[in-house]
Amino acid sequence: MAILANKVAIVTGAGSGIGRAIALAYAKEGAKLVVSDINEAGGQETLSLIAAAGGVASFFKADTSSAEDNRQLVDKAIQEYGGLHIACNNAGIGGPLAATADYPIDGWNKVIGVNLNGVFYGMHFQIQALLKSGGGAIINMASILGAVGTRFSPAYVAAKHGVLGLTKAAALEYANQGVRINCIGPGYIRTPLLTNNLDEATLEQIKGLHPIGRLGDADEVAELALWLSSDKASFVTGAYYPVDGGYLAQ
Ligand code: NAP
Repeated sequence: MAILANKVAIVTGAGSGIGRAIALAYAKEGAKLVVSDINEAGGQETLSLIAAAGGVASFFKADTSSAEDNRQLVDKAIQEYGGLHIACNNAGIGGPLAATADYPIDGWNKVIGVNLNGVFYGMHFQIQALLKSGGGAIINMASILGAVGTRFSPAYVAAKHGVLGLTKAAALEYANQGVRINCIGPGYIRTPLLTNNLDEATLEQIKGLHPIGRLGDADEVAELALWLSSDKASFVTGAYYPVDGGYLAQ
């Protein structure tokens, strides 16, 4: 039987890259999905891919940096499919590249708003719905940069470290109520987040940071998200799982 049969799931940032791969993986394993993104065209494309794979999904446009949008997204899942069992808080942005002393204040607020506040707002409403549905799983998308630093992305690094902390704090609060909460730390994954912002020479350099010797693929992150979301991971909560080609082992 499909491992997510009879489950209802939300994936944010599902109009592109890693979120799209996770949405497709969930749908192929039988979940009914609300695909969410700020980018409607991308979201609609993901819906078409899910439909072509025989899955069931609808789209809801939401900006994760808005608490109200997160509330409405959870309501949409409940209205459309009768409950909520899985939520993947994946939406994220890279933000400006600058040293801390030069980093634009509005860029800081934007990155923290989407990448950190968005995860808190999401969990705030999702947990209430998961409890009403008899429990479930939340997956938060962090990064290797949630575990170590890098230069010139202070907001991104701080937000992703915050996602690890939030994941642990919330996981402890709900561990005995049937809600598992984990986060994932991808290494550099070939998605529009990278390819729209970095040239091939830089991508080539970044490859070398991974002992495996290449960038990751969105499907390789989706495999981990799928497992953590399923009952196969029934004893796993409050954890941070890198999927990084060995980056953090160095
Ligand atoms: P991506 O291809 O850019 O996809 C992100 C999606 O989220 C896009 O459709 C984007 O829309 C959407 N989005 C942006 N801001 C949003 C908001 N405020 N509310 C809702 N949706 C929003 O990026 P990705 O590489 O798949 O990244 C997904 C997640 O993985 C992010 O949290 C990222 O930090 C994390 N991650 C990525 C990598 C990597 O190397 N790719 C590594 C580690 C962690 P637009 O296209 O309109 O911006």
